[in-house]
Amino acid sequence: MSTKRDYYEVLGVSRDASTDEIKKAYRKLAKKYHPDVNPDNKEAEAKFKEATEAYEVLSDSEKRAQYDRFGHAAFDPNSATGGGFGGFDFGGFGFGGLDDIFDFFGTGFGSRQSRGPVKGADIRTTMTITFEEAAFGTEKDVSVNKYVSCSTCEGTGSKSKSTSSCTNCGGSGQVRVKQATPFGSFVNVRTCDKCGGTGKTVTDPCTVCSGNGKVRKNVTIKVKVPAGIDHGQAISMSGQGEPGSKGGPPGDLIISIRVQRHKLLRREGFDVYLDVTIDMIQAALGDVIVVDTLDGKVELTIPEGTQPGVSFKLKGKGIPKLHSSGRGDQIVRVSVAIPKKLNETQKDLLRQLQASITGNSSNGRRSFFGRKK
Ligand SMILES: [Zn+2]
Ligand SMILES: [Zn+2]
Repeated sequence: MSTKRDYYEVLGVSRDASTDEIKKAYRKLAKKYHPDVNPDNKEAEAKFKEATEAYEVLSDSEKRAQYDRFGHAAFDPNSATGGGFGGFDFGGFGFGGLDDIFDFFGTGFGSRQSRGPVKGADIRTTMTITFEEAAFGTEKDVSVNKYVSCSTCEGTGSKSKSTSSCTNCGGSGQVRVKQATPFGSFVNVRTCDKCGGTGKTVTDPCTVCSGNGKVRKNVTIKVKVPAGIDHGQAISMSGQGEPGSKGGPPGDLIISIRVQRHKLLRREGFDVYLDVTIDMIQAALGDVIVVDTLDGKVELTIPEGTQPGVSFKLKGKGIPKLHSSGRGDQIVRVSVAIPKKLNETQKDLLRQLQASITGNSSNGRRSFFGRKK
């Protein structure tokens, strides 16, 4: 009825393995699956618990003998054979061996988060700029609310600007905590609660920052927006985020760029698109028209016989290439407007034109470019 794996199998040792082999095998597994090394990994956590349970039984000669005889039933409170131990009470045993197994977590990689300098958090914000500002770059201020060193106490947190070593952690900023869990006791290194990891105690807290040494403040930061930046891209300003702790560097300021739509121009990569409409006479005879560009109005020659949907390229009139040289192009797409309201005289003129083109002197209604059957 038990779905538990065999303890020897869990540790990957033979049934006649020595205590030393068992310890070695467990140490290897514990290192691999320890929750500190695998944060938020349920599978690793389960494996770690499984290995720890197997180790606690197999490293104890009395329990191991029980297990060899009865299997898992030896520690099952519901089983008649388990009565000898009254179930498997993990907490009740002081496994001396576990402390030194877990000690390496305390001094090694197991408690990274609470040790050493910590980089400050990044601050994220957005900035909205115009189409032209995105194209040619700009310089703008952003206001950011962040922690800065308290100027009243010069960041010491003390009214008299004097601090003493924290009595709780002896000035190291860290405390070692022995933690008893159902799977043995662990030595964890934690940030000292009393001094918050600074290692210093303030006896006369600064009234401005309540002894924190830092205050939240709105800070104005000048942001250089590079030419060619596009909607959705971000500018990262190194070191402009929240301050670090315990001597760590500050975080970054990350500014997401939003670019407003232009009323005429549309951007694709570094090219700019513009739709213009000409009339059919201009399309047929050609013309010089004036179009909008990022650089203002320019003349565009429409050659005679221009077809609807044709595009013209204005070389180098697009967006300056981001962090590079040169510019994209402007593409002008031409639509041709067909007149909707013509008076009889105008219609007559068109019919004459049609007749001239087709060489047909009838009113032309039935012979439009030979489409008639
Ligand atoms: Zn402390
Ligand atoms: Zn202060």
